[in-house]
Formats: sequence, structure tokens, C-alpha cells
Amino acid sequence: MNDISPSAPNTNNTDPDTRPHAVVIGSGFGGLGAAVRLGVRGYRVTVLERLDAPGGRAYVHHRDGYTFDAGPTIVTAPFLFEELWALCGKKLSDYVELKAMDPFYKLLFDDGREFSYNGDPDDMRREVAKFNPGDVDGFDRFQKVSAKIYQVAFHELAAVPFHSLMFTLKSAPDLIKLGGYRTVYNTVCDYFKDPALRVVFSFHPLLIGGNPLTTTAYYCLIAHLERKYGVHYAMGGMGALVDGLVDLIAGTGGQIRYDAEVAKITSANGRATGVTLLNGEELAADVVVSNADASWTYKHLMGDHKPKRWSPAKVDNKRFSMGLFVWYFGTDKRFEDVYHHMILLGPRYEGLLKDIFKHKKLSADFSLYLHRPTASDPALAPEGHDSFYVLSPVPHLGGGVDWDAEGERYRQAIQDRLEETVMLGLGDALTTSFFTTPKEFESRLLSVNGAAFALEPQLFQSAWFRPHNKSEELENLFLVGAGTHPGAGVPGVLSSAKILDDIAPDPAHFKK
Ligand SMILES: Cc1cc2nc3c(=O)[nH]c(=O)nc-3n(C[C@H](O)[C@H](O)[C@H](O)COP(=O)(O)OP(=O)(O)OC[C@H]3O[C@@H](n4cnc5c(N)ncnc54)[C@H](O)[C@@H]3O)c2cc1C
Repeated sequence: MNDISPSAPNTNNTDPDTRPHAVVIGSGFGGLGAAVRLGVRGYRVTVLERLDAPGGRAYVHHRDGYTFDAGPTIVTAPFLFEELWALCGKKLSDYVELKAMDPFYKLLFDDGREFSYNGDPDDMRREVAKFNPGDVDGFDRFQKVSAKIYQVAFHELAAVPFHSLMFTLKSAPDLIKLGGYRTVYNTVCDYFKDPALRVVFSFHPLLIGGNPLTTTAYYCLIAHLERKYGVHYAMGGMGALVDGLVDLIAGTGGQIRYDAEVAKITSANGRATGVTLLNGEELAADVVVSNADASWTYKHLMGDHKPKRWSPAKVDNKRFSMGLFVWYFGTDKRFEDVYHHMILLGPRYEGLLKDIFKHKKLSADFSLYLHRPTASDPALAPEGHDSFYVLSPVPHLGGGVDWDAEGERYRQAIQDRLEETVMLGLGDALTTSFFTTPKEFESRLLSVNGAAFALEPQLFQSAWFRPHNKSEELENLFLVGAGTHPGAGVPGVLSSAKILDDIAPDPAHFKK
């Protein structure tokens, strides 16, 4: 591990900045985390973002007095943010208030039953017993398994690079012992007999684009991660965390340029040498870090270098995570019975998952995640109003859904479902409304197949099998973000940035 201490940014004088230059492509959480870390280590950092504001999937939409977080809403590993602030000699809590959620989620089943999910074992046992008293013992045993998996798969291995096959082979026995060759759903079925409880304890991979029926059992770790650190909401929305990171980057003398799309990574003699923007501008760099979708990076940004391990054909052969349909809306009244985080389950679970991931068809039924941030933070809407988003997992673009034709019909179907379940009178209360489909994930965020969470978290698309953080294609090219190790989700992408501390050269290496 490299020694890290805050660098002395060259912000207050007129001398040329001679620090080695790091270019970061993209300002998602992975790119922002990388920029903070590289700046602290002594790089002059330039972040290039094609959109007009930072955050990537965590972009913030401001419409008609409402604030809508575009993507992530749940903070599950606050220590990863705290670490970034600490590296800069600051305290996260002085900048952003993280509010602990209780319940974490409210799950509402199609038959009207509710499960209130939180981190308190006694509360959870009571909830489990409501569904099936015989499963309480299984719940206790599942907690232990989840904790064991967390210890190895997250605590020990999420923030270490997996570019060495030797290291991978050395870790394999531990990982096999944890049952990684099994799926989350199979594992959960060992502990719970009740079909509804099997849903409650297996849905977590969907939060990072994985199919519970096929995703490796490692992702049972999420249950423990949530219990150990809680589920938090950033007051002001996720944008508060994005803005905070942008400030940290400025504090290390780094720069973020918006409306700056990278067209290609330049290289010479097998090394990355910089980037060329869409407008033809060239920027030389000592290291290049791509926070663009890893698959997009290898398919479209490699310039004259023809990728070998990640040729376009190989990328196309991979399995991509699901897409998302996200409907953002404001209402001119408050729906006080709607919790901050709600999961509204449809009539089918396994069948719906198969439709989304295997058959890639848009079903008439759906399961929804409903987000009402104004339950905790009324400032995100005009007084007396609510702001919401509701998301529905859908097939990625490989399914061929014509979203121009289907989008509005699908939105209306979701609205109808909300009206008949938890939001009576929604249609009359609607003020602002807009939606995003997998098409926009492709055109706006440059995500291959419009996948919402990059490559699907499968056993053979994880760790060594995922595009490496230290590129297999070019020296001095590094990857952070959802498409590389360890994978999607805010904790995952912040961990990928942390890995740079181990693998990006010490800036002294470049001093001329
Ligand atoms: C709707 C939704 C809800 C989610 N909810 C949660 C949640 O509650 N909790 C959680 O932990 N995770 C959640 N996730 C997952 C999490 O948000 C993502 O995995 C994570 O934010 C992705 O970060 P990233 O670093 O990969 O970058 P991204 O957010 O993917 O950003 C990449 C950036 O690169 C830019 N870019 C791409 N190509 C170029 C180029 N050529 N030139 C310049 N810029 C470029 C893009 O414009 C974008 O800004 C959610 C995701 C979605 C979509």
C-alpha cells in the first residue's frame, strides 16, 4: 500500500503546476473517489465529464422546485465516504448529514402483507415470525452466514486488486468455502421455507443489477453490510455527497471540466499517454483512469490500440446487468403513508426475474422500488409537496424493447399500480413528471446495452474475470466504477477507487 498524506496543491501561486498529470474520464462516484485519492497522493488531476454536471448515475435533476436524485438513494457503507474526507484532513459530518433510516425498507407484498426490514435482530425476528415462526431459527443462521461472507468477500477482498491470477487462485479456497458457486436465492432457500421470506432475504442483488436466481451467493453479504453500518440517507440528497467530493477535489488543486467528452485514449508503445476529446482537443497525461463504463471504454475509447483480452467481440459475449425504467415525479400534496424506501412486490418473483434477465421481455407485471426522500427531507420539494422516483427493473437493450413506443404506456401502468396500492389520488396530485429508460442509459451515460449496473455480477464475471482495475490493455491505464472490480453500487465503486492507492504509480515515479 502506498503511503498517503495530503499533497500540497498548487492553487495559490502562479508557478506552473509541475505535478504529474492524471486524467480521470467521468465523474461518477468511482471517478470522483479516484480524483480525490490521486490528488491527495500528489497528482494534478483533471476530471473530464461529458454531462453538464457531476455524479453520473448520481446526477441531480432540478425541476419546478423539486430535487430528484437520478440514481443511488441508499448509503450503506458510510466509512468509505468518511475515509475520503479524512484523507483530505476533513470530517464528512461537517459537510453532509447522514441520517440513519428505520426501517431500511418497507416491503409490501401483492397480497397486502408488509415486512418492515431494519437492522435490529429482535425486530427482524418478530417480522419473520409474522410470516412463518418456523423460519426464525433460519433467520439467525442466515445472519451468521451473511456475516462470514461479508468478512471475506467485502472486508478482505473488495478493495484489493484482482489482476493477478496467482492472487485469485490463492483466494479461491476461501471463496469456494463460502459457497460462491451457489446462488443467492438457493442459499436463502436453505434458511427460509416461507416463499415471501425467501423474497425478503434474496432481493438485495437487484440493488446492484444482479439476478438473485443466478448471482453468486457472495452477494448475501449485503444483508450484513446493511446491518453492520445501517442504511443512511444523505440530507439534501445524494447530490450533497457528490458536491462534497467535488469540493475535496478542488481542495487538492484538481479540476473538473464538464461538457468534455473523451473520444479516445491515446497511447504509444503500449502505454496510455493521454486523451483526445470529441472536439479534437488533446490532453497529455501520465496516468489515465477511466470511470466510463468499462465495456464502453474497451469497445469505443481505445483509439489506435486494438484490445486483445477485451476485444469488442469478447465484450459483446459478456452478460450485462438489467436495465431500469425510472419515473421521477412531484406531487402537490404529501403522501404521508408512503415510507422513504418502499419495495412494492408484484404477483410473481421467479417468473418476473426470468422475464427480465433470461427472456429479456417486458412483462405486464412488475416489482417496484419507490423512493420518497421528502419523507425525511421536505426541502427537496416545494412546501406541502412530495418528490418521488419509482424504478422498475426491465431487460437491457439486448431485449429489443422499443422504448419510444413503450415508455409512456409503461409509465402509465406504473402510475396505475401505485394508485391502486399506496398512492390513491396520485393522478390528480401529479405536477412534474419525466422518465428514463435503458435507451438513455446508453445515450446519456454511454453504457453498453443500456445496462444500469454494467456487467452482471456473475461468478465468472467477478474479481479476476471482470475487467481489471489495472488495465490488461495498456500500461498506466486504470479502471474504476461499476464495470470493474469489485462491481456496481456506491460501496463497490468507491472501493474500486481505493484500489488505485495500491496500483497507480507513486507520482514521484514521473518527476522529471
Ligand atoms: C436508478 C439507480 C439507483 C441506484 N441505487 C443505488 C443505491 O441506492 N445505492 C447504491 O449503492 N447504488 C445504487 N445504484 C448503483 C450506483 O449508483 C452505481 O453503481 C454507481 O453510482 C456507478 O458509479 P460509477 O463510478 O460506475 O460511475 P457512473 O455513475 O456510471 O458515471 C460514469 C460517468 O462517466 C461519464 N462518461 C462516460 N463516458 C464518458 C466519456 N467518454 N467522456 C467523458 N465522460 C464520460 C458519464 O457521463 C458519467 O457521468 C443505483 C443505480 C441506479 C441507476
